[in-house]
Amino acid sequence: MSHQTFSGLGLSEPLCRALAAENYTHPTPIQTQTIPRLLEGRDLLGIAQTGTGKTAAFALPILQKLGKPQHPVAARWAHALILAPTRELAIQIGDSFRTYGRHTGLRNTVIFGGVGQPQQVKAMARGVDILIATPGRLLDLVQQKHVRLDAVKHFVLDEADRMLDMGFIRDVRKIVAMLPKKRQSLLFSATMPSDVAKLAAEMLRDPLRVEVAPQAVTVDLVDQRVHFVETAQKRALLTDLLRDPALARVIVFTRTKHHANRVSEHLQRAGVSNDALHGNKSQSARQRALERFRSGHARVLVATDIAARGIDVDGVSHVINFELPHEPESYVHRIGRTARAGNSGIAVAFCDASERPLLRDIERLTRRPLTVVGTRPAAFDTPQAKAEARRPDPSVYKRKRPRYRGKPRRAA
Ligand code: AMP
Repeated sequence: MSHQTFSGLGLSEPLCRALAAENYTHPTPIQTQTIPRLLEGRDLLGIAQTGTGKTAAFALPILQKLGKPQHPVAARWAHALILAPTRELAIQIGDSFRTYGRHTGLRNTVIFGGVGQPQQVKAMARGVDILIATPGRLLDLVQQKHVRLDAVKHFVLDEADRMLDMGFIRDVRKIVAMLPKKRQSLLFSATMPSDVAKLAAEMLRDPLRVEVAPQAVTVDLVDQRVHFVETAQKRALLTDLLRDPALARVIVFTRTKHHANRVSEHLQRAGVSNDALHGNKSQSARQRALERFRSGHARVLVATDIAARGIDVDGVSHVINFELPHEPESYVHRIGRTARAGNSGIAVAFCDASERPLLRDIERLTRRPLTVVGTRPAAFDTPQAKAEARRPDPSVYKRKRPRYRGKPRRAA
């Protein structure tokens, strides 16, 4: 946080009032660096992940720029378009616009797939100031002429790298091609794979480039621990840890939907209030699960990576990686749920023998070894596992041993 104030960044009184009501005292670094330039109309390439305050960084200038001259909204039109990869994220962005814009009179609506269309068509019939959408359903509605994109003046592509992972890039390109040439465009991405960089180059005009909280900085706020444990003992370890009331609001991550259900059922049997959150749940079940977690009615949320993307719940005390993810970046996203907006948090990884290489990838990415807090040695009793455990990882510990290149020893 900085000593800047929101009004010092050029934001209008109705917006500052809404922020004060949310107890936002100071802008976060990404907000300080971007808001004044976005108010000038610059394009932006933002390399930032959730937890940095990036939503407010784009929502506030857009609200202000829409709010100044009175734009009449025509049927089926929107003046600002925000694309997000998941419905959860889209809904959260919609909530943020509503919160920050509550004194502006600007209207927004959120559209996403997996639910009926009529409500969304009805909302668009009158036109809105701000439209937040997932790409697939937006394209459907545009093709059916329920939404028109020719009045969009501000365009945001959020979590572009996740769009790519989820296979939405073609849909995104189609949507971008339908937008007016004269517009302000913003692209946010936690990482910059080459396809995202290419899209940014096509989509942005002389963008301001801002990079905040590189992954290593965010993960520094999290106390990261690892338990070495056999696969079969993971569930028992989980209930064991949950006996400690300090684990007040906990997200447990699994790799698959099926495992999320199994862990959730196990916790239910152990008397721990929890819900599972994953892509096979209906939209209303997912919203209900999030609400129960947010309000404290459920102590634990068992989630898969994609479903958990963009979960914006404050005060998560612990993230438990019941299974380590295949992509180390997902680990960083997972533990970021517990260190939001400058708070610290605790992340605990359960690592079985087969997950050792995944742990090594994670430590290579974050450049810090996790603190070992528990070992169930039975899992590592094989000679192979013992050898593996003894061998230091040169990229983490920077102790590279030279390979023996001498002549083979002769038999005596
Ligand atoms: P985001 O990176 O947009 O997902 O935001 C992360 C969290 O930080 C959200 O819970 C926001 O409500 C919160 N937040 C954003 N900006 C600020 C700020 N300036 N002061 C305090 N909290 C903030």
